Parts: sequence; structure tokens; C-alpha cells
Amino acid sequence: MVIFMERTYSMIKPDGVARGLMGEILGRIEKRGLKIIGMKFTVLEKAKVEEHYAEHSAKAFYAGLVEFVASGPSLSLVIEGNDSVKIMRAISGETDPADAAIGTVRGDIALAMDRTLVHTSHSLEAAEREIKLHFGGAAFMVYKRCDEDFLYE
Ligand code: ADP
Ligand code: MG
Repeated sequence: MVIFMERTYSMIKPDGVARGLMGEILGRIEKRGLKIIGMKFTVLEKAKVEEHYAEHSAKAFYAGLVEFVASGPSLSLVIEGNDSVKIMRAISGETDPADAAIGTVRGDIALAMDRTLVHTSHSLEAAEREIKLHFGGAAFMVYKRCDEDFLYE
């Protein structure tokens, strides 16, 4: 089969950190078989959050969203694996937790649109842009998962 080995960017937002859900969310990513190759635990500068969410700058929720994401620690992640952009979106679930399927992060442990726990890049282009924005030219971890030979043919 064709493997689309990709990198994506995700963030456990301040609600996920404050609710003590980092382990829960990281566990779902790891169990799926994806490999976490970059991690940064930080309080993001407001300017960086504005740039991160620039596509939403005209929307009514933008100011509140930026303020919240810059309000406390968040965990930025670089994640590698087959089809990781699509698979991380599937792990996160629909934007509105009320529409998110059971089994997704938002469908299982989130309640409201303005507290969606995670961000994850919507396309490969967005992933490249967001990895660069949050990690600059940082080198990522290179290691082999012990189950790799069973995750991929
Ligand atoms: P996603 O995070 O699923 O990619 P969007 O890119 O559409 O969703 O929106 C970015 C984030 O903005 C969402 O995760 C959510 O926290 C917030 N958001 C989106 N729509 C609304 C809304 N109508 N009201 C409040 N917050 C919203
Ligand atoms: Mg989005």
C-alpha cells in the first residue's frame, strides 16, 4: 500500500492543560500509532496566536479565541505518521463538540465551541506553515517505535 508519511502540527490548548487532559490526549495520539517528534510547552505570545489564527481574523470569535489561547500554557506538538494530517483531524473531531462523534477528543471530553481542547492543522500546507511558526528551524526527534513494523507493511 501507499504510505503518506507526513508531519502535522497540533496543540493541546490551555483548556486541555488546565483540565489535566494532556496525558489523555497524548495517549490517544500515541495509541493510534502516530509518532510525536516535537513538543513545546509554553505560554504563546498573543502576536503568535494572532498569526496562527489569521484565517479567522474577520470572525466575531477571533478576539476571544486569541485571548484564550494566549492566556495560559499550551502544548505544541509535531506529529509524524501515515496520513497524519487527516488522522489527527479525525482524532480531534468536528469543531463543534455537539457535532463531534463519540470516540473523538471533542466528542468525548469537550462541551462547547469556544473550548475545543485541541488545534490540529487542516491541510498539509497549513501543517508546514504552523510547524514553521511554532518551531522555527528546530530539529525534531528521530526514533523508531517498537510497533512500527506492525503499523506499516
Ligand atoms: P478547528 O479547530 O476544528 O480547525 P476552526 O479552524 O473553524 O476549527 O476554528 C478554530 C477554533 O476557533 C476552534 O477550535 C474553536 O476553538 C474556535 N471557534 C470556531 N468557531 C467558533 C465559534 N462560532 N464560537 C467560538 N469559538 C469558535
Ligand atoms: Mg482550523
